[in-house]
Amino acid sequence: MRVAALVLAAGRGERFGAPIPKAFLPLDGRPLVVRAIEALAARPEVERIVPVLPAADLERFAALAPDVAGAEKLAPPVAGGAERQDSMRAGLAALPAEIEWVAVHDAARPLVRPEDVGRVLAAAARTGAALLAVPVRDTLKRVREGRVAETLARAECWAAQTPQVFRAALLREALAKAEAEGFQGTDDAQLVERLGAAVEIVEGDPANLKVTWPEDLVLAEAIWRQRR
Ligand code: C5P
Repeated sequence: MRVAALVLAAGRGERFGAPIPKAFLPLDGRPLVVRAIEALAARPEVERIVPVLPAADLERFAALAPDVAGAEKLAPPVAGGAERQDSMRAGLAALPAEIEWVAVHDAARPLVRPEDVGRVLAAAARTGAALLAVPVRDTLKRVREGRVAETLARAECWAAQTPQVFRAALLREALAKAEAEGFQGTDDAQLVERLGAAVEIVEGDPANLKVTWPEDLVLAEAIWRQRR
């Protein structure tokens, strides 16, 4: 299985509110984007990694790149777009046509375990599309105008993580359909689901959290140090 990974790091990190882009915040001394790349580069199936960064930060990343474990797999970084889906499109466009599998990963998830990456790659190889996810802990309510409209059955609810892995042609087709219909997704699997294609869930690790708020980074540091 020959896989290219897109590491999406072009978000503004507005919820985090740091003076530097979120992807460059350190986790135990190394930027989140570097930690995320290193977790993917540890897998032999992943032969190429395309970092997608804010246009203004391409040089900042270039200065870090030689120091990344697995630097030989790094492709030149690509500038992202206004929405996550735009950044994914930019990364996908940078892949050579012969790449058959694409793993899309959030730079904001630096704690993904290489063994879980391997499990989601294996699942995608069977079905064409798979993602890491964890059963939700909380009961989810659909809310409209401050009132509960619906309570979702918790046993059926999973929180989507990344990596999400797809046959490249399937992801390209899903993106084209979403764009033709003006649909913006908050993850990549959603676009493939809209084609009616099967998307397999692989139970991941709750520690593969997305660093979104400042307290998430405190938690991520604690998990990282405990693992060492
Ligand atoms: O905004 P959200 O939490 O969905 O971001 C998930 C990941 O997508 C982050 O790693 C972020 O840097 C990336 N992203 C991006 N381009 C955007 C928005 C988010 O690459 N325009």
